[in-house]
Amino acid sequence: MPSKQRDFYSSHTWRKIRLQVLERDGYTCQIHSNRCTRTATQVDHIVPVTKGGAKYDPNNLRASCKNCNLGRIDRTRGDAWQTGPTHITLIMGPPAAGKNTYVQQHAQPGDLIVDYDAIATSLGADPHQRGHDLHPAINAARNAILRQLRRGETGATRAWILSANPEADRRFPYHSVITVDPGIDQVLENARRAGRPRDYIDAINRWYQARQAPTDNASSRSW
Ligand SMILES: [Zn+2]
Repeated sequence: MPSKQRDFYSSHTWRKIRLQVLERDGYTCQIHSNRCTRTATQVDHIVPVTKGGAKYDPNNLRASCKNCNLGRIDRTRGDAWQTGPTHITLIMGPPAAGKNTYVQQHAQPGDLIVDYDAIATSLGADPHQRGHDLHPAINAARNAILRQLRRGETGATRAWILSANPEADRRFPYHSVITVDPGIDQVLENARRAGRPRDYIDAINRWYQARQAPTDNASSRSW
């Protein structure tokens, strides 16, 4: 549970309204799932706050047993992005393919851009140095944003996730996916011209090994 939510549930206002709703509903669960225990000890938001439901309006609240409330949280948490307000585009491709250039050319002001390299730079690391000491911190920052995206909580209209992971389309949420892959010769040339270190070149080779053949599905673009 994110700390913002934790603060909310321990607030004085919430505790007061929670008690009112439990008393109104006679401490009886109003959800009646097949695992219902009948005895309400919790209060459930009928329309989740993350979907715009009112936090404190008793009309949006009902008494719930632990089982029914947990079942609802599990359903709404992991896949909220699928129906959330944010359209997520996943940008895949090897290092030095031009993913960042693609996003800069297509993103609009206010778009959320989740880019490991940009986070690394903002935290003081050289993004082109693989396996540096700040990696855990950079990863933690990125994962925190990705978690918010999965829950549909960022408030952005559009989000872009950039990833050089060859299996990114199996790891990240997205509504559309674009593979930026100008071909291994061009990518190696880009890396060489930018003076990238040896382990960066290795990462490029690993991407192509993992992908085996370049993708040629309808959503991919080669440039
Ligand atoms: Zn119940």
